[in-house]
Amino acid sequence: MFGLIGHLTSLNHAQSVARDLGYPEYADQDLDFWCSAPPQIVDHIEVTSATGQKIEGKYVESCFLPEMLASRRIKAATRKILNAMAHAQKNGVDITALGGFSSIVFENFKLEQIKRVRNLELDFKKFTTGNTHTAYIICKQVEAGAPKHGIDLSAATVAVCGATGDIGSAVCRWLTARTGVKELLLVARNQERLSALQEELGFGQPTALEAALPQADIVVWVASMPKGVSVDLDSLKRPCLMIDGGYPKNLDTQFAHPDIHVIKGGIVEHSLDIDWHIMNIVNMDVPARQLFACFAESMLLEFEKWYTNFSWGRNQITLEKMDMIGAASRKHGFRPLLT
Ligand code: NDP
Repeated sequence: MFGLIGHLTSLNHAQSVARDLGYPEYADQDLDFWCSAPPQIVDHIEVTSATGQKIEGKYVESCFLPEMLASRRIKAATRKILNAMAHAQKNGVDITALGGFSSIVFENFKLEQIKRVRNLELDFKKFTTGNTHTAYIICKQVEAGAPKHGIDLSAATVAVCGATGDIGSAVCRWLTARTGVKELLLVARNQERLSALQEELGFGQPTALEAALPQADIVVWVASMPKGVSVDLDSLKRPCLMIDGGYPKNLDTQFAHPDIHVIKGGIVEHSLDIDWHIMNIVNMDVPARQLFACFAESMLLEFEKWYTNFSWGRNQITLEKMDMIGAASRKHGFRPLLT
C-alpha cells in the first residue's frame, strides 16, 4: 500500500475545495481553524501499471497551508506534517511520499529528531520525499522541451532558481554531467551554499535572479517560495523556456507570447487512467492521468516493492538513483509532461 501526503496551495484554495471533498464545515473557516484541523484520508486510489500490475494507495490531506510558514506558525506547520505521517503509518501504508512543502517543513525544522507522535514511533523508512523522481522528470522536461521550442542545449544558458535545494542541486548535477549545456546559472539567496554547489559541480556561476533572467534560454524554477514571483516579459530572451516545478507555482505570471513557453515542471502523465478524485482539485489538465512526480515516486516504490526511504535528507540525490527511478518510471508507464 502506498500513500501520498498532500496539502493545498493557499487558504483560499483550501476553502474553495473543502466543500468538494465533503467537508462543508471547513469551507468558511480561517487559518486558525486549519492550524488545528487533524489530517484526513480523503481518497482511496487504485493504479494500474503499463505492465498490468495493480496497486492501492491512500491520499492523506495534512491540512498544512503555506500561509502557516509566512505567518510564522511554525508549531502548527510542523504538527501538521508529523500528524499526517503518523496517520499514514497508523493506517498501514508501507511507503508514503511527502508532497510539496511537507518534506521542506520536515527538513527545515529537523523533524527527524521528533520520532514519537503520541503513542506511535515514526518509522522514517516508510517515507520518501519523492525528490529523486521529481528531479529526473524535470531534467527530462529540459532535454525534450528545449529542441521542441528551438533551443539547442549545447549552446544554451540554463538558470536554475533554487539551485542549492534538494531538487535544484540534483538538476544541476544532471545538467552538468549529462547534457553539455553551455552555461549554468545558479540562483538562490544563501551565498555560502551557492559557492559549495559551484565547487561540487566544478561548473556554473552563482547569479542573482534579476541578472540571470535576461541571460537564460531556459529557466528551471525549483525554489521553495510560499508565493509565486512576477516576471517582466521584456526581461526574457526569445525564445525562452520556463519549467516551473514549484508547488505552489514559483511563477506568478502568465505569458501570452509565442516565444515564451512555460511547462508544468515535475508533473508526469500516466499511460492509463487512475481511479482517484484528488487531482481534480489541484488544477491538473487531465486529472485522471496527470500527477506530481513526487507522488508517482511512492507508486513506483510500491510497484517495485522498494520499501525504503528512497529519497531522504538533503542534497544527496545521485545520478545513479535518478537513472534507477527513471527506468522504473518508464517501465510502469509514466512520462514527463511537455506542456
Ligand atoms: P529545498 O528547500 O530543498 O530548496 C529550496 C531552494 O529554493 C533552495 O535553493 C533555496 O535557497 C531556494 N530559495 C528559496 N526561496 C528563494 C527565493 N526567494 N529566491 C531564490 N531562491 C530561493 O526545496 P525542494 O528542492 O525540496 O523543493 C523545491 C520546490 O519544488 C518547492 O516549491 C516544492 O514544493 C516543489 N516540489 C515539487 C514536486 C513535484 O512533484 N512537482 C515534488 C516536491 C517538491 P535559499 O534559501 O538560499 O534562497
